[in-house]
Amino acid sequence: MSTRDGGCLCGDVRYRVAGEPVVARICWCSDCQRIAGNGTANAIFAADAVSISGAVAEYVRTADSGNRIHHRFCARCGSHLFAHSSGRPGFLVVRLGTLDDPSSIRPRANIWTTRAPAWACMDGALEQFEGQPVFTPPPS
Ligand SMILES: [Zn+2]
Ligand SMILES: [Zn+2]
Repeated sequence: MSTRDGGCLCGDVRYRVAGEPVVARICWCSDCQRIAGNGTANAIFAADAVSISGAVAEYVRTADSGNRIHHRFCARCGSHLFAHSSGRPGFLVVRLGTLDDPSSIRPRANIWTTRAPAWACMDGALEQFEGQPVFTPPPS
């Protein structure tokens, strides 16, 4: 099974993901814009496919979707690496830009497009969702 490595800006947190993500998307929700200064590019993996080393801090907040989101970031440099949503138990969001090779996963949709700023650059070839698309976990 293929693996990918990633980590935070300062290098304290490193992680490895196994296999392919369930889905990869760019999110323009208000919370993502706050944490990233922009949309976030994310891949959703089965939580047990991700192994993490280093000190990860957490901030929990209710998102636009109504789900409780556990934002996880490096305790030292603050880089946002992961998120876990109460609406998707068993899955972990990985921020694509923290992969050592971010190009190795391609987002296939923009979500929360109604919250995107007027200057947002969106690839018209990708699927677009005005809000949170329904998440259908793959059969396990
Ligand atoms: Zn760090
Ligand atoms: Zn978002």
